[in-house]
Amino acid sequence: MNNLVVTTSSSLENWEITRYLGVVTSHVVAGTNIFSDAFASFSDIFGGRSKSYQKQIASINNQALELLKEKAKRKGGNAIVALKIDHDEISGGGKSMFMVTVSGTAVKANLPENGNGLNAENDDKEIDAKQMSELIKVHKAVTKMNHKKQEGKGIYFRDDEWKLILKYKELDVIPLLFYRFFQKIPDHMEGEWKNKFIEFFGMLDTDLANKYLYNEILKTESNTLENIILYAINKLSLVDFDRVEALIRNDNFNKKKLGIQLLACDKLSYQSSDIQKIQKLMNLIDKEFSKQAEIVEVSKTFSSKTKKMWECGCGTQNDMSVKYCNNCGRNKYGFESGEYNPEQIDSLLDQKIEVLSNYFNN
Ligand SMILES: [Zn+2]
Repeated sequence: MNNLVVTTSSSLENWEITRYLGVVTSHVVAGTNIFSDAFASFSDIFGGRSKSYQKQIASINNQALELLKEKAKRKGGNAIVALKIDHDEISGGGKSMFMVTVSGTAVKANLPENGNGLNAENDDKEIDAKQMSELIKVHKAVTKMNHKKQEGKGIYFRDDEWKLILKYKELDVIPLLFYRFFQKIPDHMEGEWKNKFIEFFGMLDTDLANKYLYNEILKTESNTLENIILYAINKLSLVDFDRVEALIRNDNFNKKKLGIQLLACDKLSYQSSDIQKIQKLMNLIDKEFSKQAEIVEVSKTFSSKTKKMWECGCGTQNDMSVKYCNNCGRNKYGFESGEYNPEQIDSLLDQKIEVLSNYFNN
């Protein structure tokens, strides 16, 4: 056994990576003859409950992992990060074979003075045979749903699969989650998928979650998806001022509006530098959202007097007392009722600045 730390994440907790030594890969191919004749087809391998099969798979996984550690060690590494495991079916000559591929990045890392890390007490960082089998299960579930997605069909995960997806933070599930909301979800399923969505992104590092959520909300054309992302950012307090800025600067009015809605949500924690960022956003909002309505003088019927009305972007003239256009339901800023409009957000941000300034003694 090589005493190397192996982890699926891209960093090592409590370790300082001093050198990246490149990607290492190992393959282990098992012929079908390794498994007993009881197996009719390849797909049965994973579905099989037989103890001996599971043991054999675990042993193949272990072989691949040991090989990988050997390669990393030869490169001068003492750890492997970003471990990936894949399984493939190779067929030829009427025979199917099963191949495990493991790859990762070999690194040289320093153990900190306090001695934490090497024999990672954090045992979910160490990969053992059981976890290798679990990773295969995750990979299989995601692959299956990717096929469903390609066929335009609905997707689902069993509870046991979903638990493992969360456990291993399987990022490949993200496009599937987005896809699920790109489609119309039956009402009785909506709560469940909403929970899954929140659960998954709530478990990721804030930065990583934000990267995916904001990129998607910027580019998606689906209203349903925009709404669930908005919901997630609100629920998880994932407001990211820099990323909101990109939305507000977008040419598409709909995306600009989303930026405004996001500013009603919160951040998990604030720093003194946020005061400047908020100030900058307020200036930007002022610049980007001018009133779309024009005030016009309209002559009264049977009278020489005129009265003021506001003309909506859609061309309809509304009484000054009317907040939302009688025709299209938008207000002077082009916002619908129920949406936060720039004026509301402005005063909300103003309050935030005041609180933060007091707190940071600025
Ligand atoms: Zn209108």
